[in-house]
Amino acid sequence: MLATAKKYNLTFEAMELPITLKRSTPMWYHIGLHDCNIQWNSSWFVCHWKRHGVVTVGDLQDYINSDVPVGHEIRCNCDCVRCTNMKCDGCPNPVNCYKAAVKLLDLLPEIWDLRIPGNDQRLSE
Ligand SMILES: [Zn+2]
Ligand SMILES: [Zn+2]
Repeated sequence: MLATAKKYNLTFEAMELPITLKRSTPMWYHIGLHDCNIQWNSSWFVCHWKRHGVVTVGDLQDYINSDVPVGHEIRCNCDCVRCTNMKCDGCPNPVNCYKAAVKLLDLLPEIWDLRIPGNDQRLSE
């Protein structure tokens, strides 16, 4: 699809994309991030993918939207339930891993960003 879009010089920005498509678009090598010069093999992105099961934009969105447990602290040795579970899954530093996910979503062009009301119908329900 990517190659075809390039070939015909289509830009997704010009299209009205259904929310289901936005959510199910693979996060990695995202078409909206072409010009961002992202190191896709960075350890955090590998962590998102391998340890937190992030494959699509929706997965990353859900990952950063996961509930913050009471007692969570923004430090690498936080021992809240979520951080403990993430560490058990092999995540070396849940706080930095999470920050890297937010940063990555921040790079996405607005049209793809499901955090913007209207881009994700679930937010306005
Ligand atoms: Zn925590
Ligand atoms: Zn992680």
